[in-house]
Amino acid sequence: MKIVGLTGGIGSGKTTIAKLFQAMGVPVYIADTQAKKILESSKVVRAKVIALLGEKAYSNKLPNREYIAQLVFNDPALLGGLNAIIHPQVHINFKQWAQKQDAPYCIKEAAILFENGGFAMCDATILVTAPTKLKIERVLARDNTSLTSVEQRMENQWEDEKKIPMASYVIENIDLASTKNQVQKVHKTLLSTCISNL
Ligand code: ATP
Repeated sequence: MKIVGLTGGIGSGKTTIAKLFQAMGVPVYIADTQAKKILESSKVVRAKVIALLGEKAYSNKLPNREYIAQLVFNDPALLGGLNAIIHPQVHINFKQWAQKQDAPYCIKEAAILFENGGFAMCDATILVTAPTKLKIERVLARDNTSLTSVEQRMENQWEDEKKIPMASYVIENIDLASTKNQVQKVHKTLLSTCISNL
């Protein structure tokens, strides 16, 4: 089965688009959801995160998400350290999940794909883009967060301009009707590509 990486900046609409693919029968793996589960349930990960960020990173064996986010989004070295603990675990989990899927291709949604070289493990990539102002508005409307916090997270992601030339497909997600059309086109192309490669 082919692996298609789906990525885009914070608030671009990755999850919205992942759900459109899922509705057409494509198996979808959301890396961020799994990362959160692993942070909660893996003892090994907990010990490593505490060693990196200190005891306050967990209380009653549960991660202090706000505390962790505040530390890592202010310090690229800590963010890199946290990713180095969690990403390999997510990768193992994804491989196990992918083996169980029965479809021409599956989608792995990840906020960071080009930045960390993860795209190299994909057969194709889809980049979701939207204007920065719109992305910020969406996140502020969705989450109980501040503009500073959204901007901090954006600083850890590459600009769309840098990622566009690296992507196999680009979906511009502004108007939802147009987005749906683009998703259908990409799905058709991916299916024909998968079939022609069989
Ligand atoms: P994050 O990286 O923060 O998880 P994301 O890229 O997965 O974000 P979504 O959660 O899919 O983005 O979208 C962000 C918000 O914008 C959501 O509330 C979603 O419903 C809304 N949204 C996404 N696309 C559109 C659109 N085309 N029109 C209107 N609202 C949209």
